[in-house]
Order: sequence, then C-alpha cells, then structure tokens
Amino acid sequence: MSDVIEQYFVKNEPYYRPVADEVKLYEAAYSVRMPMMLKGPTGCGKTRFVEYMAWKLGKPLITVACNEDMTASDLVGRFLLDAQGTRWQDGPLTTAARYGAICYLDEVVEARQDTTVVIHPLTDNRRVLPLEKKGELVGAHPDFQLVISYNPGYQSLMKDLKQSTKQRFGALDFNYPQHDIETEIVSHETGIDSAIADKLVSIAERARNLKGHGLDEGISTRMLIYAGNLIAKGVDVHAACRMALVRPITDDPDMRDALDAAVTTFF
Ligand code: ADP
Repeated sequence: MSDVIEQYFVKNEPYYRPVADEVKLYEAAYSVRMPMMLKGPTGCGKTRFVEYMAWKLGKPLITVACNEDMTASDLVGRFLLDAQGTRWQDGPLTTAARYGAICYLDEVVEARQDTTVVIHPLTDNRRVLPLEKKGELVGAHPDFQLVISYNPGYQSLMKDLKQSTKQRFGALDFNYPQHDIETEIVSHETGIDSAIADKLVSIAERARNLKGHGLDEGISTRMLIYAGNLIAKGVDVHAACRMALVRPITDDPDMRDALDAAVTTFF
C-alpha cells in the first residue's frame, strides 16, 4: 500500500465505550459501504467512535474539520506551483477515495453548500469523484466510505444540509452517554476517581437541562474530561469546574452564577 495512506491507519486501539448497538450497526453499514451521518451535539463521542471503528475495521481514517471558508478544492485537490511547474495535489477526500480510507467530514454543515455537492457522486451507486480541474474521474476504492457529523442543534435556515444531501446517508443518533456510562468514561479518560466523575456528570446534567433556556449547548463529555484532567493535576475542583465547565459556555452573568451554584451544590 502506498506511503500516502499508511499514515492514516489508527495504530492503537482508541478507548471507546459503546453506549448502545452503534458498533454493530456501523459494521453493517460499512459492510455495504453505506455513507453514514453521525448526529449529535458537540463533544459527545462522535469523533472517538469513528476512530474506534476505523481501528476495528482496520481501515485508514482521514478526518477533515469543516469550516465556512472551506472550498471544494480544499476537499478535492488543486494544482500547485513549484520549481518544476504545476503539479496536482489530491485533497483529503480524493486521497480517501483513491486509497480506500474512511473519510470523516466533521461538522459538514459548516462547509459551504457548493462544497457539500462534491460529495454527491461519491454517495450514490456511481461512487466516483470528478476532479473537474484536472479532468479526471476517480472511481472510489472498494474500501472507501464517507462519514459526516452533523449537529442538529446548530441548524438554521442558512445552515442546514439539503434534503438531497441528507438522503444519501444512513444516520446514527449520538447523545451524551447515560449517567453511569459517562461517569465511567470521564474517570477512565482522566484518572480521577469515579465519585468525583459522578459529581461532574451531575453538574453537566443540570446544565443540559438549561439548553434552550439561556444556554445554546449543554456541558459536553469533552468539557467534563477537561475538568477531570485539571482536577487530576491537583487544581481545586471549584476552579477546575469554573474554568472548564462554566466559563466556556456562557457570557451571561446570571447564567454563570446559576452554573457556579450548581457546582457548589455538588462539591
Ligand atoms: P464529538 O466528535 O462528538 O464532538 P468527541 O468524539 O471528540 O466528540 O468526544 C469528546 C471526548 O469525549 C472524547 O475525546 C472522549 O474522551 C470522550 N468520549 C465521549 N464519548 C465516549 C465514549 N462513548 N467512549 C469513550 N470516550 C468517549
């Protein structure tokens, strides 16, 4: 196999704690190369899940964090100028299609709609990627699979996937894990004991109930892991929670005080 793709193999088993039957369902989807959409709030385990699945299936994984400035060329590739003249450089999507990687487009809604259209011919039975500027039609490698993540909470009229895009994917719902599972994850990832992890999860659950009532998004599993990492380093729990859980998600003084109060309720 080419050196180009070698670097994308997930070498060590990522820690992933299954929350339902998502591993089995994903394996079935991969076996028929169904493009997949992982739906759910930020920081709830979608990226970790794809890393784990790529490792389990023994396939390379190419991840692209999408943003609003991303153009189709950033995905597909472009001609570059060098001392020898111009040369074509494949973008991450093209590399994945050529060599048979799983291509994970994280937060695909962020990308401009013309960008999402380039994935269309790869996600139906054609499984091809036209490189218009180069005049090449890349037929996807049999192992290639496209996976996107999508946060339904962020959708707006301007920023939503088109139905014609959505309907090309199978979808798995992700959410913050159940209390005991999330406690286990936070404790495993940070090394803090489960009694503290349990309290961190309870604080997050309080904040999640405020979503839509002054908070755009609840405290994620990722944030709990930040807090746990600080606590494991000896930072005072209150300071750690303020810094990792409360300050990042609100600028509103009343909401900040309410969340700080939730922290003191548990610690
Ligand atoms: P997303 O892609 O949904 O924004 P991530 O996959 O980056 O979120 O998850 C954030 C962190 O939460 C991960 O780095 C991991 O430490 C932890 N995590 C969340 N869910 C799980 C899980 N089910 N098993 C193991 N770790 C998890």
